[in-house]
Amino acid sequence: MSIAYRIPREKLSELVEVLMENYLVYAPVEKAGNFILSDVEDPAEVTLEYIRTINSVDSILLPPKEYLFKYRAGTMSFAGKLTAYIDVEDYSEKREKPLCLFGIHPCEAHAIKYLDKVFSTEPKDPYYESKRRDMFIAVILCDKGDENCFCIPFKTYIPPEDVDLVMSLDGDSIVLQPFSERGKEVVLKLEASPTEAPEINPPQRAKKIDISVFDSLTLEKVISGDISDLSEKCVLCQACTAVCPTCYCFDLYDEPDPEEPGAFFRVRRRATCHGLYYSWLAGGEVILEDKESRFKWRILHKFVFSKNMYGCYGCIGCGKCTAFCPAGIDFIYLIERLQR
Ligand code: SF4
Ligand code: SF4
Repeated sequence: MSIAYRIPREKLSELVEVLMENYLVYAPVEKAGNFILSDVEDPAEVTLEYIRTINSVDSILLPPKEYLFKYRAGTMSFAGKLTAYIDVEDYSEKREKPLCLFGIHPCEAHAIKYLDKVFSTEPKDPYYESKRRDMFIAVILCDKGDENCFCIPFKTYIPPEDVDLVMSLDGDSIVLQPFSERGKEVVLKLEASPTEAPEINPPQRAKKIDISVFDSLTLEKVISGDISDLSEKCVLCQACTAVCPTCYCFDLYDEPDPEEPGAFFRVRRRATCHGLYYSWLAGGEVILEDKESRFKWRILHKFVFSKNMYGCYGCIGCGKCTAFCPAGIDFIYLIERLQR
């Protein structure tokens, strides 16, 4: 592991400015009393002191609505015969610079690793890959957390080794530990003094839960469990899946181009298993008809199906689903109830 460097906190803007030379930087900024991961226009807005942002890394890698391509279908006369044709035009968003996710917590860097397993294994998703290509990731170690965090059993408070820069706050300083050559190049552009790399400890206020709580979840246990009293409280606002860094479900549909009759956009829109339409099949059948079955589906996806498909859980213990639920539904309590 590399050595670390120390800069005064006042140089945070300078660090962000250095990154903005080569990257389109997204970082935590405070807006209307909330922290949000936002594209940075003014480096002075960036903060490293926050518990959680109301959006997550997936909202950048998989935006709520994304235009993928445009197509025109029609018929044309060819060699004396009428022939059908389809003309496809790439309509995906283009960027001049690669993306940089700056000041995200280590758990969200683990969420990116999970999304990579989903979208960067065959068949690869080119739209995800174009955003992920050459992405610079700078994490800030999380020392406090709160009572909704449960990253300890997953060890997701420890940054993945393939991030570029690990930062921590130490009194009036920011300690910078480059994990990659690119990270080192960025740090060496600042007047930083060498120092010891920080110890990585779990956030002080995170829940101390044993991993066996998750390891023991099985398809049978989840399906036969009774959590109807909890799921009844759900107001179907879908906030839990919107804020979750590892939720990635989406719908694909076609939208007519109002400016070109006969042309259509293929659009990807994020979907949530808490919505009725999520499991609405042709013919009108809805598989996840009641609220309880949708909760169970979410738990199965994260802890049973993901483990089978990707060899890891689809949850990083960030606690956002609990923290932002207006009905006060505690995700961990739901899971603990399924242990009975
Ligand atoms: S945030 Fe809470 S109330 Fe809203 S859909 Fe999720 S569980 Fe239901
Ligand atoms: S399920 Fe909840 S705790 Fe787990 S990653 Fe999603 S928002 Fe975070």
